[in-house]
Amino acid sequence: MLDNLRDAVRKFLTGSSSYDKAVEDFIKELQKSLISADVNVKLVFSLTNKIKERLKNEKPPTYIERREWFIKIVYDELSNLFGGDKEPKVIPDKIPYVIMLVGVQGTGKTTTAGKLAYFYKKKGFKVGLVGADVYRPAALEQLQQLGQQIGVPVYGEPGEKDAVGIAKRGVEKFLSEKMEIIIVDTAGRHGYGEEAALLEEMKNIYEAIKPDEVTLVIDASIGQKAYDLASKFNQASKIGTIIITKMDGTAKGGGALSAVAATGATIKFIGTGEKIDELEVFNPRRFVARILGMGDIETILEKIKEVENYDKMQKKMEEVISGKGKLTLRDVYNQLIALRKMGPLSKLFQLLPGIGMLGQIPEDQLKVGEEKMRKWLAIMNSMTYEELDNPSIIDKSRMRRIALGSGTEIEDVKELIEHYNLMQRTIKMLKRRKKDVEKLLGQF
Ligand code: GDP
Ligand code: MG
Repeated sequence: MLDNLRDAVRKFLTGSSSYDKAVEDFIKELQKSLISADVNVKLVFSLTNKIKERLKNEKPPTYIERREWFIKIVYDELSNLFGGDKEPKVIPDKIPYVIMLVGVQGTGKTTTAGKLAYFYKKKGFKVGLVGADVYRPAALEQLQQLGQQIGVPVYGEPGEKDAVGIAKRGVEKFLSEKMEIIIVDTAGRHGYGEEAALLEEMKNIYEAIKPDEVTLVIDASIGQKAYDLASKFNQASKIGTIIITKMDGTAKGGGALSAVAATGATIKFIGTGEKIDELEVFNPRRFVARILGMGDIETILEKIKEVENYDKMQKKMEEVISGKGKLTLRDVYNQLIALRKMGPLSKLFQLLPGIGMLGQIPEDQLKVGEEKMRKWLAIMNSMTYEELDNPSIIDKSRMRRIALGSGTEIEDVKELIEHYNLMQRTIKMLKRRKKDVEKLLGQF
């Protein structure tokens, strides 16, 4: 599903056709992929329109290439399509925690119950499984097999027909045994299109066991049809979350995902295979990064973040030089962090408007090596806010304390303070020169 998008991104970033042509081709490919992944056609067009609009109205930040910026926009908008910044909470906020699984028969509830039990067991929780499917023959055996495979106890009552009673007794037993997470598997004898009946059954068991979370399991192969079920469920259950199974090997996964996301429901996990560990926490951004090619996306995002940090610093320096702000060690700290990747400090000064023409800046003196940066960051981590904001108060005894706290030598602390003073002097010099240049320019 959506597999060809990764190639399209590569081709877009490295291809030789003109930018406009490449954008056009990419958008066509995107539309084609999404529609063949069964995403609603209207959603697809509104997505690509949004992308085009942003291309028209927004400018790439300095140092970011147009092509990279374009992929960032695609990444943002695709993430929104699949749920935006919603990051599901998978670790329960209380213990014991009871999860009840509901859903149409054959969607993968029982399999998912096993996967969830395994997921939480691996995280160190004491987990119990309750088999309350009394309709499907051998349903309990299926769950017991899974439980045995992963070493999780399973509660069931072979031959008993009262699902509500089983669920209730199972949860009570595990509670008395101090289980931390209890997962209740239920029957789903109703087909799609019978949402009302499904929700009714869910209500009965719900009333009996009062779970902390109700999870609707949806099969990805139903594609856009997931919308009706998910939206009714989302309205009926305040504590409801959704798991979409069979994301592997179905062309309609994109349709199911985007349809469910459109209801505002939280997609917690996706099932990506029949095996016990084929369950993933669903995070829209991470999911999209993967379909677009993780490596490329991460590189672009990192670059954009660096540039943003750099811009912030540049603004601060402009303020300092124009006399509106004061340089503190906190600024030096932020600079060191941002500059680790961006190059020497002198570059920053050269970027400032009107400064480049001011001539040579003592570049070598302002260069800071990696080893030194590490030390200085440690030193600044050991300083108080007061010291960071007001380095002039740092006397001998403070220096000793800071060196001790950061595992460095007093000489290192001194050196950092000297670097700070050098920056201060450089700024003073720049201020003076700026005035000179302005005076000079004023004469024309
Ligand atoms: P239930 O009736 O809702 O309990 O569904 P089951 O758990 O019995 O699963 C029905 C079928 O779907 C089984 O053959 C499972 O192996 C399969 N299944 C469940 N989850 C997944 C998944 O994420 N991917 C694939 N490919 N198959 C799955
Ligand atoms: Mg089942």
